[in-house]
Order: sequence, then C-alpha cells, then structure tokens
Amino acid sequence: MIKQFLNIDVNEALKELHTSTNGLSQLEATNRLAKYGPNELVTKKNKPIWVYFFAQFKDFMILILMVAAIISGLMGDVADTIIILIIILLNALLGFSQEYKAEKSMEALKQMSITKAQVVREGRSKIIPSEQLVPGDIIHLEAGNIVPADLRLVEIFAISIDESSLTGESSAVHKKVNIIANKDISLGDQLNMAFKGTLVTGGRAVGLVVATGMNTELGKIANLLQEDKLTTPLQKRMGAFGKNLSYIILLICLVLFVSGLVRGEEPFKLLLLSISLAVAAIPEALPALITIALSKGAARLAKHKALVRKLPAVETLGSVSFICTDKTGTLTQNKMKVVEQFEKTDSAMPISDTPLLLAIILNQDIQFDQSGEPIGESTELALVKYGIEQITLTQFHQQFQQFPRVAEIPFDSDRKCMTTIHSVGNRFLVIVKGASERIQSLLVNQTDKKSLLTLSNQWAEQGMRIIAYGYKMLDQLPQTITSETIENDLEWIGQVGLMDPPRTNVIKVIQECIDAGINPVMITGDHPATAKAIAMQVGIMKEHDLVMLGSELAHLSDVQFKKQVLSIKVYARVSPNQKLRIVKALQSHNHFVAMTGDGVNDAPSLKAANIGVAMGITGTDVSKEAADIILLDDGFATIVNAVKEGRRIVDNIRKFIKYIMTCNGAEIWTIFLAPLLGMPIPLLPIHILWINLVTDGLPALALANEKAEVDIMKRPPRNASESLFEGGLGYHILWVGLLMAGVTLATQAYAIHNQSTHWQTMVFTVLSLAQLGHVLAVRSDKTFLFKQGIFSNSLLLLSVLFTFCLQLAVIYIPFLNELFKTEPLSLKELGFCILMATIVFHAVELEKLIKRLQNIR
Ligand code: ATP
Repeated sequence: MIKQFLNIDVNEALKELHTSTNGLSQLEATNRLAKYGPNELVTKKNKPIWVYFFAQFKDFMILILMVAAIISGLMGDVADTIIILIIILLNALLGFSQEYKAEKSMEALKQMSITKAQVVREGRSKIIPSEQLVPGDIIHLEAGNIVPADLRLVEIFAISIDESSLTGESSAVHKKVNIIANKDISLGDQLNMAFKGTLVTGGRAVGLVVATGMNTELGKIANLLQEDKLTTPLQKRMGAFGKNLSYIILLICLVLFVSGLVRGEEPFKLLLLSISLAVAAIPEALPALITIALSKGAARLAKHKALVRKLPAVETLGSVSFICTDKTGTLTQNKMKVVEQFEKTDSAMPISDTPLLLAIILNQDIQFDQSGEPIGESTELALVKYGIEQITLTQFHQQFQQFPRVAEIPFDSDRKCMTTIHSVGNRFLVIVKGASERIQSLLVNQTDKKSLLTLSNQWAEQGMRIIAYGYKMLDQLPQTITSETIENDLEWIGQVGLMDPPRTNVIKVIQECIDAGINPVMITGDHPATAKAIAMQVGIMKEHDLVMLGSELAHLSDVQFKKQVLSIKVYARVSPNQKLRIVKALQSHNHFVAMTGDGVNDAPSLKAANIGVAMGITGTDVSKEAADIILLDDGFATIVNAVKEGRRIVDNIRKFIKYIMTCNGAEIWTIFLAPLLGMPIPLLPIHILWINLVTDGLPALALANEKAEVDIMKRPPRNASESLFEGGLGYHILWVGLLMAGVTLATQAYAIHNQSTHWQTMVFTVLSLAQLGHVLAVRSDKTFLFKQGIFSNSLLLLSVLFTFCLQLAVIYIPFLNELFKTEPLSLKELGFCILMATIVFHAVELEKLIKRLQNIR
C-alpha cells in the first residue's frame, strides 16, 4: 500500500485517501478511528491470570515441600498434609496477588506516557494523542518529534529524519516531496515518506497519514520487538544475594536434618521440618515486594507530576547528588514577556518604517489555533504577542501575506538563531533573529557591533533574555539555502529584551536541595549575565561563584574540566552536546547526576545521566523517549520531590528487607539452636510455614507505605553502589534475629522447666508476636514509635492487629488447635508470651536511642 503513495504526487495521494490539506472533518476522523482502530503497536499479548498463579508453584523448594508433605500424609498424618498444602496455597495466592499487582501497575505506567501529535482537522491545527491519528489526517512534524504514523510528505522545510531504528542507517535522511518513480525500493530510499517511530532531527514538514498502528512499517516488525525485562539494580543485587543465601539456608537445613537423624529423630518428620524451614527462610517474596514498592512509588510520583518511564529510576532517584537543570520553564515560569525594545533609528530597511516590528511579525515560528490564538514555544509566543499588541491581528496576517515566506532555517540551540526569507517584489528579504553574540558576529557595521554588545550586557545583567534582529536584501537566492550561505553580512535592526520570572517556590526548593546534599547546577543557552542574574535570584550561586561559558568549556581538555567541574554552578551559552561532557565529568567524580533536557540534541545527555529528566510540556518526543522520568509540569520542584520520594521508597525497601530477613534469621536460629541447647525441636513444620505466611505477607507489604523519615531531606544522598547491608542493616539482621531466637528459646526453656504441656504453643506464639513487635519498631530507623505515632501507618497497624487475631484464633479455636497441633494458653501464659515478645520491640527502640547518642546513621 505504501509503495503506491510513494509513486503518486501529493494531490493524488490526498484524493486517494479522500482528504485535503485542510484535513479530515472531526466526524470522518471518528469514523475512521472506528474502522482502522487506534494508532498503536500491539506488541505483547496479555498473559492470562492463571499463568501468574501457577508460576508461583514453579519454585523448586515449594515443589519438594509439596511432595514431602504428601508422602508424609500417605504415611500417616493426613491432617498435617492438608494444612501444609493449604498454607502453600495461601502463600501462592499472596505471591500471585503481589506479582499481578506489580504487573498491572507497570502497565498503568506505560499507558500514561502517550505521545501527542499536531493534526489539522477542519482546517484548524490542534494537538491530539497520537493514538487517535487515522489515515487521511494531515499532521505537522517538527524537530524533536517522533514520527507518529507512516506519512506521505506533503510539504517540507529542510526536514531531516533519523531512520536508524528502522533501516539501521545512522546518518539522518534529508527528505523530499517529489514523486519517486521506482516501484521497488528500500525504506531508506523512500525520500518522500516518513515512517512511524523515526526521529525528526531538524526542520519541519507537513505530512499525510497513510498508515497507522500495526499497518505501519514499524508495525510490521513490531512483533519482532523484544519487551525489556525490567529488573532494577536493587532487584539484581537482591537476586544475586538471595541465591547465595538460599545455598547457605539449604546447607543449614541439611545439617539440621543429618544431626537430627544422628539424634534419632523420625526421618520423615525431620525431612518435612527441614524443607519447611528452607521454604520459610528463603526470602523468595522480596523481588516481587520490591517491584510493588517501586511501582507504587511510581504511581505516587505520577500523581505529583513526575512520570516514571523506567522503573529502576524510582530507586536511583534517591541517590542523586547533582541536579543539572535548564533555566527556562524549569527554574522560571516560562512566561516570557517583552519588557525592553531598542530599534536602530537609522535602520535602512527599504520596505517599512517600523523595521523591528516587521521583523518580529515576519520572522516567527507560531501556529494559530481554532480560536485564532497563537500557540508555540514561549520565546516565539512572547515576540508574536508583542507584535500583535502594537497592531491588530488582521494587520499582522496582512503583513505576513504581503511578504510571503519563501524559505526558512529553523531555530536550533547550537546556532542560536532563526532565519526567514521573504519575497519582496522580485527581491528577497532575509531576516535573522537570535542571541546577541550570534547576531553581532553576523553584522557588517563595526559601530553597530559595539553598541549591540554594550546594550545586551546591560539588559542581561537585569536577567533579560535578548533577541537581536538583523536583515539583508538579496537579488537572488543561493542554490542551497543553509546557515552558511545565508546567515552573514547583516544590518542590525534592533533588539528586544524578554523577562521570565522565577517559579514561585523555586528559592525554597533550591535550599531544600542544598540541605539534602544535592548540588543544583544551571545549564542554559542564554547569555552569561542573564544566567547569573537568575541563578543568584533563586539561590543557585553567590556573587563570587563561577559561571562557565560554553566557549570556555570547549577549550578545556577532559582532565582540566574534571578538576573544575565540582565548583561550577552555572554554565551559560552552552550547546546541548556540551551537556554530555558535564554529565561525564560529574560522573567521573562518582556523582549521581540528574539532567534535564527538552530538545532533540539533549537526548544523548539524558541517556548518559543517571536520571534523564524530560519536560512534559515543552519537551520533544525524542527527549521524552531518552528520559527516565518526565516532568508533567516542567518544574524544578517536581524533580526534588521525586528525589525525596525515591529516598523514601529505598528507605522502605530497606525496612522490609531488614524486617523479613531478621524474622527468617530468627526462625533458623530457633530451630537450629534448640537441639544444641539440649531441648527438643521447638516448632512443627506447619508452625514455621504459618509464621512465614502471616508475617512475611501483610505486615511486610504495609512497610512500603511508611511515610518519609523526618530527616529525609537533611541527610546526604546514599551512594547507589553501596552494599544493601550498609548502614547497620546486616548487623541489625544478625543481632535482632539472634535476640528473637533467644527470647523464643528462653520461653521454651522456662515452659519446659515449669513442666508446662503448652510449651510448643508458647514458643510458636512468642516467635510470631515478636515479629509483629519488630515490624512496629523497624517502621523508622531513628524515630521512636511513640513519637512517630502508632496510627501514622494505618495499613501496617491493621495488618499487625489482623495477624495478632489470627494467632489468637490458632491458639483458641478448637478446630484450629487440632489442625495446628496447638493448645489454648492460660491468660498467664499468654501474658508471659506477649511480655517476652515485646522484648524485641524494646530492644530495637533502644538501638535507635543508642544510634542517636552516637549520632550515626
Ligand atoms: P534555557 O536553559 O533558558 O531553557 P536554552 O538552553 O533552552 O535556555 P535556547 O532556547 O537554546 O536556550 O536559547 C539560547 C539563545 O538563543 C537565547 O539566549 C536567545 O537569545 C536565542 N533564542 C532563543 N529562542 C530563540 C528563537 N526562537 N529564535 C531565535 N533566537 C532564539
């Protein structure tokens, strides 16, 4: 089908799809959407729910446990077998619901990053989600867009497209609109077409949508695309650690089994016990819990205007130590307004007595929406609005028609200027507008050069962005219109100064960053004086701090730059590709860098940064594609908030790792040490499995809901490469695990000593309740529970109460007594168990006190 559009001219192509350059009617678009379906790639079939469920049983240890339970049932104790199988089933249900939840929230995240397209319908241009495009739609493409569908190009303005994702060809392709006669040519040679998923690297174009969704060239190969399996660094480390831990646990269980045999215990009971202990102690739930915590965090971030594109970012956010940020829109409001103007009085432009105004009207990159309102990038918008303020909108359009644009060289951040060429009778008017130094370097008149610089410096020191204008008249246009052939020998027309006030809360947020050990750095294409004025206003730099210019940076070697990079707070007049050097230099000092960017050329630095941050409002598709997170409000505060959330989530993940591993450790110690202390094996397999089910499940999950620690933004960032067990975690797991086992064994010894027939139920209860005490204490690393407030994590409180009730049920309901081989405890015995269990809670609270006194983290 596509070949056909390639071989016909634009008008025929429009006819073929029953459309025109005015686009489809809204009604027709709706009909076509129903007919062709949404413009999206269907890469993955959803797995049916039961697949998730049965996946829970593929764990080798669980299978062995099931077999052992069944064999032991066949040999006598059927009730035991049934209850073990039920517990395994409940465990699987829990694991299943956790994994399913994790998967669903990941999908929900994907749904949120919908791209937009600028479409013309009923003659008006508007922005719609790319999914709603249909064949026959007319769309506008500009630098930074990802082509949203397959297009026959209708009109082009120096457009170049990177098609490497489709053709493997790395250099950008310069497109044409001419018919291609050849019928059988490769995608790379189809110059009058643009393909879904490729990147517009420069220029603009208008295109006719000829295929959408799975009918596009990309769609045809989409089935071959691999979905990334997302494992986060923490999960990877946890996975590797878990594996080693499993071997140790298996070894311990083997020793337990063999030594039991030697002592003359019943082999099958012993086998079942050893396997149950292995199943309970191996922390197989942790990876799923980590995914849930991270995806929950991502969902929360989305509510707070930060869209996470890659789940590991949630985790790495917490380790950010440098935030390199753009100025416009991120630190400032992106509400530019012209506040100063200077027009050279003796400007000799032959066609107007208000040359500056004419230049402003003619050299712009603005579209008008349905109601005639201008839409576009903020600098452009401010200029056009300023123009319209001085004349009427009708006059504005008239002027534009009177001097039709015959060519243009779009703005880019490297050249820092934009050129338009207009026909004036049989001559041509070239207007160039751009950064003051750029225009200055293109002027012919030396006096003008000086005046322009002096004036610009004065304005920039007040925080203004400067747009200078120059022009020339040509009798003939050069063969190829490029920056080199056109942008030279200009006359100065004048210039305007624009103000863009800082965002309201930005001063406070910058301070918060600094308190949190994070260095904010401003990187801008703007004038150094403008950059300095704004940076001082918001608190990024002080009077004596350094501003580095892009031109200075260009002269430094990597080694020289590395020496200076840590002391520079503001970079001005940098080109986007220099951002990559800044990221690399900071990373060479082992810093964790978040870098913002919005343009096409920002993509490499966003990819290289530890956290690439794209702008939701002003950002190009390409930058969004390269980023780890997208700021829906473009604001700096949102980045800092995301860092805070990242820190909270990693804290909470460490909390449930701490909790689960301590509990598992305690179970092992208890079973392992009792025989060594001359006591009978304290617990039955079902007890161990039960403890594992009720404690590892709900309470651990609820820890992920814990609020941020009070000092979360007052402490330096955690090094991302530091071991999981740093900061006292490993030590805690060891000593609290031993204490928990000690308390349990002491109860056993005491009860046996008093000849209580309930000793096993007491041991079971103490171990279970001690874990609940522990979960309450590990809610914070530093704050005491009474200070934190027992109600401040209601989900956790509920799950503790619920688990407590379950434990009581297992002790006091006769039917469960039979199943769990427990006996009702007297009030005194229960009181004793509760008292013993609280020892663990108090000890962990005491640990906080000692830590506070020592003032260590
Ligand atoms: P910021 O960090 O403030 O967002 P930036 O790095 O995005 O800045 P650019 O938009 O690349 O900066 O602008 C660099 C310079 O180019 C500006 O100082 C301005 O003088 C000039 N400039 C900006 N926009 C335009 C435009 N649309 N046309 C011509 N010149 C422009």
